[in-house]
Amino acid sequence: MDGRSRASHALQGTGPAALSGLGVKDLKPWEAARLSNDRLRRSGKLVVRRAEAAGGTTGTGGSGGASGTGGASARQAVAPTTPQSATVRQSPTTPLTATAPQSATAPTTAVPAVAPATASVQGPTVVRPAAAAGTSALVLYDNTGPYGYLGELYAMAAANLAGHFGTVTTKPVSAYTAGMVNQYTATVYLGSTYYGGTVPDAVPAAFYQDALATTHPVTWVGDNIWGMANAVGVDTFKQHYGWDPTNSFYESGGTVGNITQVTYKGQQLTRKIPAGYDGGVLHPALVTGPGYPQVTQLAQATDANSGDTSPWAIRSGNLTYVGEIPFTYVSESDRVIVFEDLLFDGLAPATAERHRAFVRLEDISPKSDPNELRQAADYLYGQKIPYGINVIPVYTDPKGVYNGGKAETVTLAQSPQVVSALKYMLSHGAVLMDHGYTHQYSNVNNPYSGVTGDDFEFFRAHVDASDNVIYDGPPAEDSTLWAQTRVTSALAAFATAGLPKPTLWTTPHYAASATDYRVLGQNFSARLERTLYFAGTLPGTTVNAGRYIGQFFPYAVKDVYGTTVLPENLGNYEPQPYNNHPARLPADLVASAKANLAVRDGVASFFYHPYYGTAPLQQTVDGIRALGYTFVGPTDLNQ
Ligand SMILES: [Zn+2]
Repeated sequence: MDGRSRASHALQGTGPAALSGLGVKDLKPWEAARLSNDRLRRSGKLVVRRAEAAGGTTGTGGSGGASGTGGASARQAVAPTTPQSATVRQSPTTPLTATAPQSATAPTTAVPAVAPATASVQGPTVVRPAAAAGTSALVLYDNTGPYGYLGELYAMAAANLAGHFGTVTTKPVSAYTAGMVNQYTATVYLGSTYYGGTVPDAVPAAFYQDALATTHPVTWVGDNIWGMANAVGVDTFKQHYGWDPTNSFYESGGTVGNITQVTYKGQQLTRKIPAGYDGGVLHPALVTGPGYPQVTQLAQATDANSGDTSPWAIRSGNLTYVGEIPFTYVSESDRVIVFEDLLFDGLAPATAERHRAFVRLEDISPKSDPNELRQAADYLYGQKIPYGINVIPVYTDPKGVYNGGKAETVTLAQSPQVVSALKYMLSHGAVLMDHGYTHQYSNVNNPYSGVTGDDFEFFRAHVDASDNVIYDGPPAEDSTLWAQTRVTSALAAFATAGLPKPTLWTTPHYAASATDYRVLGQNFSARLERTLYFAGTLPGTTVNAGRYIGQFFPYAVKDVYGTTVLPENLGNYEPQPYNNHPARLPADLVASAKANLAVRDGVASFFYHPYYGTAPLQQTVDGIRALGYTFVGPTDLNQ
């Protein structure tokens, strides 16, 4: 098998238009509701009620136009509607991960139907405190309104990133109590429910006041910053921060425009949102003159149609404001990189500039060509590059798709030449990693052929009429025992072949259930991959297998599942397009590595199939090195 004629299908669901695995069908009405409310606010007609106090003793407060009138209205100190218990998780360390998949190129594709194979998660968890550092982050999110569940998904994305730095606590914003911001190194609030109309403002007055009064960094993302200005007084806000949220809107000239680029630290980052799905970026109304502080424009948004630029993120005093929630429609050179880097300012400002790279060889199985493996090893070893090798310990083709209709299964132990090549690699710079047990599911197309390397192992998927890969949820039999049995079988196959026990894992096609991820966390020191994060995880309620967000990381994180995830943020060399994913060539990988230079201590991590020969590998490595990256081994990534 010199080279290969079919696509690897390795990077599922992350094409330029990929939706990050969010409930696709809800994103459009969510954005539409935002714009509708924003227009009402601009015309002074948005009525914002306060959420009722928990005890019911406080009535609904100030209604009336919350627009620009500065109305330090009758906002009472109201408590939240549904204070859920806080979830504290995470321990120390510094890992990070990356995003993922979900199919869909066409935004009109419905959310994966998903059979909610519900899996319960352990209750609200209090996890061990950070070991070393002492850095702590508070992530506050919205959870009310018709799309309230999106808030938890976004909170998981922010919490995972913050998990690079230390401990993270997540709470619905309604559960905020006075003084809390001062108990954390930094606070992030994700405004995803646009309060107004039938959805009362759930932000406690105490948070509005504390965000202004504290000296600790507060990052406000998206909606409701005007609620803070109204609560503390618009003039007060302006004198404090040099801009006026009550006069800042998502639309300019009656449209959100066509913002396709965000410039940050000299890098041009992409913003690829399908037409009709864009809720816009808030255009902050800066105020200038004596008595107003200087506003630092951290990143600039550019409209592709008009050429107009406006701030994408700004900072003044203790407040950083980001004009949109950046966790949807993410791709490898995306504007989410700005957010990923800005976290350093609040959580680790002394971090020195450092740029490391990582490569792993992918989908190695007992049917791999030992010569191709040795060639890749010789090249990387000659370049003094440490690398990972992702090995599937059992190859199976239950329907004989590539074997003349005759079923075929080959274990590592039955492939002594491959094992010999693997041992050669291990003595020449490689670190062994486990890439599933069989990298396929049962004896069915999932979605392609049922053959090892082609298909999903821990998630079900099919290809729809528009050639999109659609995620269907975990297999019906998914459980802790089922996942553990596959891991145990995989580890046994390595041992039987005389290979060392892998301590790192990559899930086939980057998709598994929350239950599976926890099992993997118990068996491996880290996962090196993109991950799906399911609704229900933060409150510790029943996981909803049909609502999730995919994420990849530019640095190692401790994620909301409590596991260490190492970065993969560039994707892989893929010479052929497949399932509405464009081909991805060395220049594309290098361009994404360049975009990630904006992360001050970031990693450029990609993977490569040895059956493509060493030339594209060499081009990619050379291009990444020329940017100033230094290649390191996988275990270095957690430091
Ligand atoms: Zn794979």
